[in-house]
Amino acid sequence: MSRIPLVDLKASYARHRAGIDAAMQDVIDNTRFINGKEIAEFEAAYAEFCGTAHAIGVGSGTAALHLALAALGVGPGDKVVVPAHTFIATAEPIDWLGAQPRFVDVDPETGAMDPAALKLVVDGAKVVLPVHIHGRPVDMDAITAIATDAGAQVLEDAAQSQGAEIVRADGTVVRAGGYAVAGCFSFFPGKNLGAFGDAGGITTNDDEFAGRVRRLRDHGRTTKYEHLEVGYAHRLDTLQAAVLGVKLRTLDADNQRRRELAEAYTQRLQGVGDLRLPPQTPAQISVVHHYVLRTAHRDALLAHLGARGIGAGIHYPVPLHLQPAYAYLGHRPGDFPVAEEYANACLSLPIYPELTEESLDVVVSAVRDYFESAGA
Ligand SMILES: *Cc1c(COP(=O)(O)O)cnc(C)c1O
Repeated sequence: MSRIPLVDLKASYARHRAGIDAAMQDVIDNTRFINGKEIAEFEAAYAEFCGTAHAIGVGSGTAALHLALAALGVGPGDKVVVPAHTFIATAEPIDWLGAQPRFVDVDPETGAMDPAALKLVVDGAKVVLPVHIHGRPVDMDAITAIATDAGAQVLEDAAQSQGAEIVRADGTVVRAGGYAVAGCFSFFPGKNLGAFGDAGGITTNDDEFAGRVRRLRDHGRTTKYEHLEVGYAHRLDTLQAAVLGVKLRTLDADNQRRRELAEAYTQRLQGVGDLRLPPQTPAQISVVHHYVLRTAHRDALLAHLGARGIGAGIHYPVPLHLQPAYAYLGHRPGDFPVAEEYANACLSLPIYPELTEESLDVVVSAVRDYFESAGA
């Protein structure tokens, strides 16, 4: 029986092995484990990739969000607006700083923060934190206009969207992480650009903000023995920077391959059963971190694929307002109906640059077979 995983980290390593092994061995030989030169090299290359003035390597995507919120001065009593449909790491650092998340519903097609819903809850918020969910940028023009009107700052949770592109009304293109005050990236192993453990980054065009983030990630340090403010231990490891530097070289091509695979899924699954496929959004160019379809038969389809050795996933089964961790906010089912419907219906198909045409065929046939034979 064929085995097709949701993501294939072994195939990724096999492709990059020579470069990664050499880069890691060099760090080990020189024992530059903390603040090694590979970090500055990766930061310069990643800033260029994103088209931003700065990229700052940090310990994880969650650390990136924590630092960016801290650098904006978020603290006790503040409210930060986040979508109800996202991974919990978008919201947790808000609580760490003594502030509170304020959830907002999402667009029924893209699953991303809905500007119309934002308008209703933005008053009094200090920061608006949309997520480029599944690799597709949100409508940053609309969200930024609403946030700015309300006096709120905007941060991008770009954890899933390394290289995704926003085409502005005037035709110029901005990469994810280059639109708002700052973009927060995760380089968790399964992300489009993945390290060999936890890693993350922050992009910004603001020199002062960049300086504050650099200081905060390393114990508030200005020199070896001077600590200007109480900071955090959120540095990027040199070994991770070495891995990321090698994998970054093929990221544009890898993202393009993901888009081609997504296009193939979409063409071949059109009109099958009750499937709702990812929307076309020409002004928001996705890097297809997840290929998400929606169906009323989600759980049965997931079991059908699993029985055939196909790794499908659910991103994510429970919206944040219904997580026990956020019971303290007092939400009820029905508060964010679109996010709830998305959570109940979404299913992610295998997608990664090394996925072959043959494997894609197997996945497509298995999905079609479910709807043709299972009486769905
Ligand atoms: C992965 C992810 C994060 C957290 O990143 P880590 O590197 O795992 O800490 C935050 N937000 C979103 C939307 C993510 O997908």
